[in-house]
Amino acid sequence: MIHKTLWIVYIGTGDSCFVAMSDIYTHNLGYPRIGQQRELKKATESYWHGRLSGEELEAAGRKLREQGWATQKAAGIDLIPCNDFTFYDQMLDFSCLIGNVPPRFGWKGEGMDLDTLFLMARGSRGEAHDSCDAGCTHQPAFACEMTKWFDTNYHYLVPEFQAETVFKLVGDKVFREFQEAQALGYRLKPVLPGPVTYLSLGKVQGTGSEDFDRFSLLGGLADVYEEILQRLASLGAEWVQIDEPVFGLDLSAAQRDAVLEVWARLGKAAPGLKILVTSYFSELRENLPLFLSLPVQALHFDAVRGGGELDEILAGFPQDKILSLGVVDGRNIWKNDFTGSLALLDKAKAAVGAERLWVAPSCSLQHSPLTLANEPGLDAELKEWMAFADQKLDEVVTLGRFVQGRGDDEVLKVNQDAIRSRRESGRIHRAEVKARLLGVKAGDYNRQSPFAQRQAVQSRKLQLPEFPTTTIGSFPQTAEVRAMRARWKKGELSTESYEVFLQQEIRHCVAFQDEAGIDMPVHGEFERNDMVEYFGEQLEGFAFTQNGWVQSYGSRYVKPPVIFGDVSRPVPMTVRWSEFAQSLTERPMKGMLTGPVTILQWSFVRDDQPRSETTRQIALAIRDEVTDLEAAGIAAIQIDEPAIREGLPLRRSDWAAYLDWAVGAFRLCASGVRDETQIHTHMCYAEFNDIIDAIAALDADVITIETSRSNMELLEAFVDFKYPNEIGPGVYDIHSPRIPSVDEMVNLMRKAEAVIPRAQLWINPDCGLKTRGWAEVKPALLHLVAAARKLRAEK
Ligand code: GLN
Ligand code: ZN
Repeated sequence: MIHKTLWIVYIGTGDSCFVAMSDIYTHNLGYPRIGQQRELKKATESYWHGRLSGEELEAAGRKLREQGWATQKAAGIDLIPCNDFTFYDQMLDFSCLIGNVPPRFGWKGEGMDLDTLFLMARGSRGEAHDSCDAGCTHQPAFACEMTKWFDTNYHYLVPEFQAETVFKLVGDKVFREFQEAQALGYRLKPVLPGPVTYLSLGKVQGTGSEDFDRFSLLGGLADVYEEILQRLASLGAEWVQIDEPVFGLDLSAAQRDAVLEVWARLGKAAPGLKILVTSYFSELRENLPLFLSLPVQALHFDAVRGGGELDEILAGFPQDKILSLGVVDGRNIWKNDFTGSLALLDKAKAAVGAERLWVAPSCSLQHSPLTLANEPGLDAELKEWMAFADQKLDEVVTLGRFVQGRGDDEVLKVNQDAIRSRRESGRIHRAEVKARLLGVKAGDYNRQSPFAQRQAVQSRKLQLPEFPTTTIGSFPQTAEVRAMRARWKKGELSTESYEVFLQQEIRHCVAFQDEAGIDMPVHGEFERNDMVEYFGEQLEGFAFTQNGWVQSYGSRYVKPPVIFGDVSRPVPMTVRWSEFAQSLTERPMKGMLTGPVTILQWSFVRDDQPRSETTRQIALAIRDEVTDLEAAGIAAIQIDEPAIREGLPLRRSDWAAYLDWAVGAFRLCASGVRDETQIHTHMCYAEFNDIIDAIAALDADVITIETSRSNMELLEAFVDFKYPNEIGPGVYDIHSPRIPSVDEMVNLMRKAEAVIPRAQLWINPDCGLKTRGWAEVKPALLHLVAAARKLRAEK
């Protein structure tokens, strides 16, 4: 083995004397832990169900870590992360490491084990729960809340803070994993969430929580970080990576003060241990000077999202620090454009020198699928344009060679060819789609008449009673429905038999709704595997992977479609099912579509044009479906946009621009119909307060929202805003197997009626019923209809 020359550069600035070693050119921020065959999911779920012992689970974890390290080493990454592995979530791991376990879990305050971690993640209902041995002392408790990690589709477990919270180093995971890797001879940097990010992303709980200042916990938190860093240093760690993506958000004065206070301490916590602080997912903007001032040895920037700031970064970049540039997109699946990346890297190299420049992915690769090697079915041309995590490692290493002046021009040429082929491909750029978009006129975004007029026409046409009852679309996706679809997909069941089966399901579903007295029935969505995939499979411009799994939370992984080209709808997608369902009943059938923003949000999106443009293309495709449904005699059409809120940019100042095109896309797809056609929309898992004006601007005739779990609290935004259109606040929490009583639903609706005019109200569940069984759905919907009747009888 040839050893690289070790350059040691001493840069003295004042009292800080610092060693920069030029034998690191490339590093990685985090590697997917789920395994090539989703081994992590299988192992954790088997453990929860008692089919795997704790030791076997640990062994499975060790194997996955070893594979990850070996892959990264083989790719040629100089500095490899550890502690990026987790059985559930890295924020939860950290809470466990520092003993931040909410009191309701009955943890004894000493030692830490996986069962406590899983209990926090999954909660317990009080009966002997599946993650524990017999005789465990864990108490019944609600799981910790889960929320989206920045603007990704990954969910972390929200840390909880209260006045009594004490942090104490009780776990040892990061040390164990570091030693494990060290024993194997790897050069590693342990990864930890940053202190300001950890405190900022948690929530304050308990009595007096409104007044409690979470940053009062900072001193105690800094003590634990110091201890962790010192211990890592004593174990021989050279580098540690501390993630502070909170730098990409709007920071309050309290957060800025916290940064200064805690980092002044951590910067000198363990002399000899070098610290890399990362920021990602965003530009730094006004936070840049603060970030640059951190008293650490290296800083990482997301050059994919924040490449436009490079000049500013370089102008102020401290002489004593290493610059890590994340030029390879960790969030998407496209091949890196080496020419573009090298332009950034060359500029950085000219400013700081090759010995102070590291090449990296923009963020942890946990957000990328693992490898293209597991995609034998993917079209060769498309594959040529893509890079998953393993391919991204190669890209980082290749770019690192160029930084060192050892780049291979042939490799560059092959890359440029691939980039050019994608840029020019007729499969991506379709003139008729672009022309149609250009031809869109201002009027295409507006319904023919304002809501008040439409409401009058619709009410005459639909003849619905007060408190009309409806559902959100899907009915139980039973084991049988899923099995039939799986058989059909495998070719074991003919399309004809599959469709006969679907018709049977629809017949049964519509008959039930008719008997139950649901005023606006639906067909049940039995033909759909997933609300985005179903449409993606029928639209031009979409591709699907076989194994492109990405962790969403815990053992839940998703396989997002890939939007690679201009989008169009060759033929109707849902019309025949809705038409068939309508033929079975006199009542107005509601057609069911997924909105353009949600389709965008839950897919890998092309990076060669603005997201707004891709969304408008999808909107036009859905618009065609909407008008076809209308032409087929469907009087009400629901366009689901559950993901509209999660698309919000990280910075407040960017919200208006996003909402403008997101709302525009919805209006574009909804506005091709006559006044008499009723457009519904549906949203869930959201707070509506801060985007209520945008929701109103959608101008849907009816919106159904999730409200029952919040006891109608989520309705407040609509009340304060004096929301003008019709609204169905959910009265049935479909996330729970519990069947709500008639009175419970009546009471919820009374709360709604106290603040929203009765003529505006619908009555419906919180969301689709696909995850429930018929045994729960039938009584719950009968209660819902009975509740509506009771309300109608009252005046
Ligand atoms: N129509 C969809 C359903 O009922 C809506 C799902 C959602 O909002 N996530 O399943
Ligand atoms: Zn929903």
